[in-house]
Amino acid sequence: MADASIFDQYPLDQWKDPTHRIMDRFSLKGKKGFITGGAGGLGRNVAAAWAEAGADVAIVDLPRTKDTLEPLAAELAERYGTAVVPLYCDVSDREQVAALKDALVESLGTVDAAFINAGVNVPGDDADEPYEVWQKTIDINLTGAYLTAQIAQHIMREHGHGGSLVFTSSLSAHNANFIAGGPSPVAAYGASKAGIYEYARYLAAALAPYGIRSNAVSPGYVWSGIFEGRIVPEAHDVMTAPVPMRRFGTNEEIASAVLFLASDASSYVTGTNLQVDGGYSVY
Ligand code: NAD
Repeated sequence: MADASIFDQYPLDQWKDPTHRIMDRFSLKGKKGFITGGAGGLGRNVAAAWAEAGADVAIVDLPRTKDTLEPLAAELAERYGTAVVPLYCDVSDREQVAALKDALVESLGTVDAAFINAGVNVPGDDADEPYEVWQKTIDINLTGAYLTAQIAQHIMREHGHGGSLVFTSSLSAHNANFIAGGPSPVAAYGASKAGIYEYARYLAAALAPYGIRSNAVSPGYVWSGIFEGRIVPEAHDVMTAPVPMRRFGTNEEIASAVLFLASDASSYVTGTNLQVDGGYSVY
């Protein structure tokens, strides 16, 4: 039976405490986080943001990214003075993800934040896509998100503390990605990203009693490096025509949204999707 002390948890004016700083809510000092797809554009920028905010970070990617991941970890550790460790894992492989769980505990001690971000857009992902294209997309994007979120939330619960899961969904989860008069080929990709969003919402409800929050970010077109050298200037204008802000987003514009969702700045935010898409989704 609740008594009046139940209301003590709702301070009205925290700013009146002279030591209180709202910007401290964005800090990840002393926190531990891991990032899948850590060698990629979004992943490495979130790693930098979390390290700058004070977290020890594990950047996780495929073994073939070793030549990128090793120097990246060293550069981030030197620049921000936190521990940054490279770990290798195919997120669609159950055994490798189980081994990742042990490696995370060994290298970081625990996990307070996870950026579930590894993803692919496989060529041929259109209305007539072969089974292999569909299956590969679902295996990496959706099953990979499930497997890596599972180890994150299990570590948090086994260690008796809360945390934050942030999933990379996409504008393609919500829109049929219109380019130059028709849909771009994101059939399985969009389905996988919509599945990720709903999975994030389910976990928000199921894990709230453990102090674990779960949210998604939906990037629009981001100049993450995957477009650089692949599109001509005219294509830039065609792609951004349906975007009210008429431009791509940057990796850092995603990273700051993910920092918000990982940190206590979003401590009452769970089960939501944050569109970072220059307004694409308003149409
Ligand atoms: P990116 O290709 O630079 O990064 C993706 C990373 O995931 C790569 O480093 C890759 O090696 C890794 N990866 C792929 N398969 C993996 C696997 N099986 N196991 C482990 N790692 C694997 O692309 P990005 O733009 O940084 O994309 C990051 C995420 O953002 C993806 O999920 C992508 O779908 C999503 N996204 C990107 C955009 C965009 O415009 N760039 C828009 C919406 C959503």
